[in-house]
Amino acid sequence: MICPQCGTAMIVLELDNTEIDHCFSCGGVWLDIGELEKLMEDYSKGMVWLTELIPAEESTERRLKCPICQKEMEKLVWDLKEPVTMDRCPDHGIWLDNGELAAIIRQGASIDAQIALLFEEIFQKI
Ligand SMILES: [Zn+2]
Ligand SMILES: [Zn+2]
Repeated sequence: MICPQCGTAMIVLELDNTEIDHCFSCGGVWLDIGELEKLMEDYSKGMVWLTELIPAEESTERRLKCPICQKEMEKLVWDLKEPVTMDRCPDHGIWLDNGELAAIIRQGASIDAQIALLFEEIFQKI
């Protein structure tokens, strides 16, 4: 799959039976629909926060195209102390720019400790 941010071919990482596409060039991460929830330690808790995302219509960030269907993705904000803006294709998944996944983990999303450790090794920014 091609990175929607910089156009580099992404590398598939497998974590706990979850496939994550990672761009080593810009540091972004693509999660297919359902994968972010699967990474959450408590599945139902993951679902709750995913429904709390707010559409960011006024975002000035560049609109990205879904790496699967090429349709323009929607900007969503997870309204935390340190808000995280992500790109979502309602049919295919979520794109997180470099550091955004780290910001989610840092702010207490319930992610399995082992996976958090793997992320730490991979991204070295958490
Ligand atoms: Zn990239
Ligand atoms: Zn799509």
